Amino acid sequence: MAEHNFDVVILGGGSGGYAAALRSAQLGKSVALIEKDKLGGTCLHRGCIPTKALLHSAEVADVTRESAAYGVNAEFQSIDMTAVNKYRDGIVDKLFKGLTGLVSSKNITVINGEGRLTGPKSITVNGDVYTGQNIVLASGSYSRSLPGLEIGGRVITSEQALQMDFVPNKVLVLGGGVIGVEFASIWKSFGADVTIIEGLPHLVPNEDESVSKGLERAFRKRGIDFKLGVRFSGVEQHENGVIVSLEDGTRLEGELLLVAVGRGPNTAGLGYDEQGVAMDRGFVLTNERLQTSIPGVYAAGDIVPGLQLAHRGFQQGIFIAEEIAGLKPAVIDESGIPKVTYCEPEVASVGLSEAKAKETYGADNVSVYEYNLGGNGKSQILGTAGFIKLVRRNNGPVVGVHMIGSRVGEQIGEAQLIVNWEAYPEDVATLVHAHPTMNEAIGEAHLALAGKPLHAHA
Ligand SMILES: Cc1cc2nc3c(=O)[nH]c(=O)nc-3n(C[C@H](O)[C@H](O)[C@H](O)COP(=O)(O)OP(=O)(O)OC[C@H]3O[C@@H](n4cnc5c(N)ncnc54)[C@H](O)[C@@H]3O)c2cc1C
Repeated sequence: MAEHNFDVVILGGGSGGYAAALRSAQLGKSVALIEKDKLGGTCLHRGCIPTKALLHSAEVADVTRESAAYGVNAEFQSIDMTAVNKYRDGIVDKLFKGLTGLVSSKNITVINGEGRLTGPKSITVNGDVYTGQNIVLASGSYSRSLPGLEIGGRVITSEQALQMDFVPNKVLVLGGGVIGVEFASIWKSFGADVTIIEGLPHLVPNEDESVSKGLERAFRKRGIDFKLGVRFSGVEQHENGVIVSLEDGTRLEGELLLVAVGRGPNTAGLGYDEQGVAMDRGFVLTNERLQTSIPGVYAAGDIVPGLQLAHRGFQQGIFIAEEIAGLKPAVIDESGIPKVTYCEPEVASVGLSEAKAKETYGADNVSVYEYNLGGNGKSQILGTAGFIKLVRRNNGPVVGVHMIGSRVGEQIGEAQLIVNWEAYPEDVATLVHAHPTMNEAIGEAHLALAGKPLHAHA
């Protein structure tokens, strides 16, 4: 049994783990990064990147179908999933090569193998012990299911959905959250019939209610079915498909059932609890400085309760590296983390919803403004509908920006600066937004909220 000593030993080479490794190396630390599969983790190989590539193919399919409206003669024939998957894999491979090259150029020791926390400062991989002055746990997450709902055969999760080499005729999607609506959108554009089942009253239930309703309108128009506020009770599989029963007695048939009910922390059997790391339902508990209950042991990414997003993992990884190096970084404000859902139309938001702002500041102390993309030239050119909704604390800053429409995800950058820098509508109204861009709609919404609307009726 060999022993190896490093300043920082990191378990898991996904968004959280590799960001901690890169920043630690920049700060002059010796780093071991333990990964049992591929550097890049869920986001690069089974999450953000491959799904967004499929969504882009879906957009091309939609544009082709609608091409006549733009005076272009083209005919949508079919989806070639082998070619779609080749395109997607090409993107993933290129990014993977780039990441591998970046990590190796920084003198980070990558250890391929399955690690386990075997001491408060050590991780064992294939009998070798890697001891760090500091440890970072970043072992990520897996697709959860419901009690009694077994994954297998025609009941799949996003992992299998990404491996499919055909377009199903009819799919049932259990869960109307981010992953569920993204796959529903992809399959609909690829030509499938889709029904989403969501137990809560709305699609994307973590968003501002008006955005959820906007997405429901848009999906209805696209012919994507959904059952809201009704819970799943069971599924039967037969040779050609599945039959899903709901608690209200409805029975739905499909070729496949995608289970998209959230992601659980990947922490079981990794020695965390045995070493005394405080946990809650499998998640690793940390203080706001991301330190676990064991001094010198930190945690990042999806295993830490909160938004399970890659950019949160990156930021946490950077934070931990700086904390270890004694730089005393500012605590990450979780309420300011932007969220984007890349279905068609896209949904993007940052900060407080109207309901949350009213709960926080009192209903009389909050005002909202919705700028309809009908007044935005570029949105008309692209043929998209939607709106930008601002939530403002009266006589105070903008505390929430909520958007729906094609490509609004690309607008989240300015929205998050506005919210996180606590800008007043009057401040933003003085900034010039380029015409004609969709971004201009953010400027227009702030002009209106500052009392001087330009291309708006109110
Ligand atoms: C379908 C889908 C779409 C998504 N889309 C987006 C999106 O558009 N935007 C966004 O921000 N987020 C998205 N996410 C979420 C994002 O992928 C995660 O938030 C992010 O990957 C979390 O990073 P992480 O480092 O915590 O974990 P992971 O990326 O899961 O990485 C953990 C790594 O640890 C390794 N590991 C685990 N246990 C061990 C062990 N014992 N030994 C060695 N290695 C181990 C794993 O192999 C893995 O590589 C999506 C997720 C899914 C599933």
